[in-house]
Amino acid sequence: MRILLVEDDSRIRKDVATALESAGYVVQCQSDGEEAWFMGDTESYAAAILDLGLPGMDGLTVLKRWRAEGRDFPVLVLTARGTWSERVEGIDAGADDYLPKPFRMEELVARLRAIIRRSGGQANPLVIVGDAELDTRQMRLSVHGVPVNLSPQEYRLVAYLMLHKGRVVSQQELSEHLQSVHFERESNAIEVLVGRVRRKLPIALIETRRGFGYIVDDQAQSS
Ligand code: CA
Repeated sequence: MRILLVEDDSRIRKDVATALESAGYVVQCQSDGEEAWFMGDTESYAAAILDLGLPGMDGLTVLKRWRAEGRDFPVLVLTARGTWSERVEGIDAGADDYLPKPFRMEELVARLRAIIRRSGGQANPLVIVGDAELDTRQMRLSVHGVPVNLSPQEYRLVAYLMLHKGRVVSQQELSEHLQSVHFERESNAIEVLVGRVRRKLPIALIETRRGFGYIVDDQAQSS
């Protein structure tokens, strides 16, 4: 899942990016408000982490413009400690949650995971599709109660499809969410990844819709 991280303090930005990457997310960083607004307006993200004090355009304006333009990905706002008015303004502007600085990385990752889950209509950390169970806290997939040994990239693929169950997800969307900007994009990378995951699963969880993409849904057939 791809996260937009907007923070102009390079030390915080680096620490947060590292924490998110080790939690299995693909992170795109931005330090300028106006650039961040443009990225959120034109690219697709599972969520954004948004600092309020930014050069170029302040975070509240960025958020208000995204919401006014119908961009509805969840946003976690970072505020300076003790500024309750910023928190209120942030929530009024359409933030899904906020976190005062300084914060613990564990808390940031937990809150991010929660807003992503809620935005997908999933209040529960467990996502169940047929005989497959995804535990988004442990980052583990089980089938018939038995854990499946997946690489981080394979896990991200399954997690993205399961969190969007019932919807066809295109290869383009998958590659945007699974690959970091540093990762070399090969045209058949997603097909290869899907093939690898399928060979590891004892059930036919991922269905191909030729020409459209892939879907995971509750009607998935056990095999
Ligand atoms: Ca700042």
